[in-house]
Amino acid sequence: MDNGQRITDNGLWHFHTNFGISTPSMNNQTIDNVFKILEEEMVSWQEPVVSRVSREKDPFKILISTVLSLRTKDKTTGQAFNRLFNIASTPEKLLELPLSTIEKAIYPVGFYKSKARNIIKISKIILEDYGGRVPGNMDKLLNLPGVGRKTANLVIILGFNGMGICVDTHVHRITNRWGYVSTRSPNETEMKLREVLPKRYWRRINDLLVPYGQNLCMPVSPYCSRCKLCTYCDQIGVSNHR
Ligand code: SF4
Repeated sequence: MDNGQRITDNGLWHFHTNFGISTPSMNNQTIDNVFKILEEEMVSWQEPVVSRVSREKDPFKILISTVLSLRTKDKTTGQAFNRLFNIASTPEKLLELPLSTIEKAIYPVGFYKSKARNIIKISKIILEDYGGRVPGNMDKLLNLPGVGRKTANLVIILGFNGMGICVDTHVHRITNRWGYVSTRSPNETEMKLREVLPKRYWRRINDLLVPYGQNLCMPVSPYCSRCKLCTYCDQIGVSNHR
């Protein structure tokens, strides 16, 4: 339907017009309810491994666990991280290891060979340029090999208690399906969310949408019939759902 109303999977009519002007169902009037639902749903799912690692408040561990997690399932990331940090848990100790030992420890994370090389390069830069401490600055983090905006934001948020929005594939996909943003890449989504998302949710959105994207709002055929956000979501681009 294109008149601003649709029937949702709950069988409820859903209007999102405002004096004839179509507005997204997900907006800053509804966002508090949405985050409340997300927090309630979250308790039944396992938190991402990087969030667990972050309790130790060690930016180096957060950085390396995030590098390992890219394009890798959470369970595999957790096991690889434990194997690696049982052998060497600081930049100094990691630099004493041969490349093959790091590769073996982190296998089978995605792109394990290039990640192993990057872990060595990152450790060297941190040791030589920053006195062994991970920098808490976006530009410096982005200069580390294999570190993009997603990783840099996560290190700033979790490792330094700073402000940022970590946008990965789940945050990008789900906020676009909601109709809250309309963007073509995770970086563009981050910039748009920095404009529209209330700051109180910046640090939390990734923790909530990663498990949501893994368990309900998956890339292919999401479980819209079980989703408590259905009345707030415009389901943009969702052609098949369960
Ligand atoms: S599961 Fe369906 S209704 Fe729920 S957020 Fe994803 S696309 Fe929207």
